[in-house]
Amino acid sequence: MKSPGCCLLMKNGVKEKSVGSFVAKFAHGPRHHFHHFVRKDFLGQSRDVAEKVLAMGLVMAGEAVLRSCGVAGPNQTKCNAAVQAFFNAGGALSGEQFKELSRKMRMMLAQAKCNPTRLEAFSEQKWPLADNVFGYTYKKDQQGDRTLYIGPLFFDQHLIDRANTIVHEMSHACQGTSDHKPYGLPAVRVKPYAEASDNADSWGYFCAAAFSSFHCKLGNEIVEVPESDTTDGGSVEGPRMHWTEVERPLLMHIPDWYQTHANATFTVCLLGDLMGKDNVEFHSIYEYWTVSADGTVAVLIPAQPPDASGKRRFASDTRASPYRITFSGNAFTELTDGLNNLRIVMAGNAGFGFCACGGVGGRSFVSIAPGRLEIVNGRR
Ligand SMILES: [Zn+2]
Repeated sequence: MKSPGCCLLMKNGVKEKSVGSFVAKFAHGPRHHFHHFVRKDFLGQSRDVAEKVLAMGLVMAGEAVLRSCGVAGPNQTKCNAAVQAFFNAGGALSGEQFKELSRKMRMMLAQAKCNPTRLEAFSEQKWPLADNVFGYTYKKDQQGDRTLYIGPLFFDQHLIDRANTIVHEMSHACQGTSDHKPYGLPAVRVKPYAEASDNADSWGYFCAAAFSSFHCKLGNEIVEVPESDTTDGGSVEGPRMHWTEVERPLLMHIPDWYQTHANATFTVCLLGDLMGKDNVEFHSIYEYWTVSADGTVAVLIPAQPPDASGKRRFASDTRASPYRITFSGNAFTELTDGLNNLRIVMAGNAGFGFCACGGVGGRSFVSIAPGRLEIVNGRR
């Protein structure tokens, strides 16, 4: 079942707790009849995009938590504790270890934002895996054009766990991580740094918990996202697990975020779906923001990398309509340019948010970091 270079995610199959319920479920016969599914129709295009975008939201939230570890403020200790919980069983991390985690996170961002990450159904030869494997992919230690293979069991997972599975596989496919078994959250919680930093599950759970942290503050009014608690190991019928307060810190929004930076310039990435005909297209846009003390935001669109579907939607080096801050309180900041409505939470010098974009029905996730950062491309 395992072949060299092929990494399998079998969360259900190997977890002792899940095995019982898993077997019981299939004792009545497989729920999925592979000969009935037509491979080409297995993934509806819109579903593919929606789940990938959610996964990318998880990665962007992870980025914001990791960045906020290095900045003095009300969230620094909490963000550090969350990173330590997932990457060193709660123990302290050295500066070098943080640097390595940040380097690996940049690979995930480059993969998520600027490289095609395709979801494809198992090929016929892999159908025997379908009863206990959610997905698999091929290990690569750099970002690039990648395909993640998923089986029908994937669709039995809660939506947030499907996104977690995509992040897990993406971690194999661009960071070259391994599976330090067993799978699942309880195992992630006790792994020392050397294993955790190289463990696909650790990256998946870290990003999912970070997303959940921001989701608690952002709510569902701007953009509806699914419940962001996890289920242990992503198991279909396993016990529901909840994040601890350390894993999912209650973040404090920093309302004067733009006043604390000398030039008040930020690099923003909006990444979403629900565009184009039939609302099934993906988009990724980078913006440089310059925020004035009166709450107006000048927007420059720098040279754009192609988005994860390979398209460049926006001309480079153009000015876009300015945003203005319409609300800034202790919970979040809201901005609008008349067409796009954003709600962001700043955790330190970085933030994450939701955007209802392009009028009715559009949505994207927003990451924001200080300075004019070099645009992550890394396309290969
Ligand atoms: Zn794996």
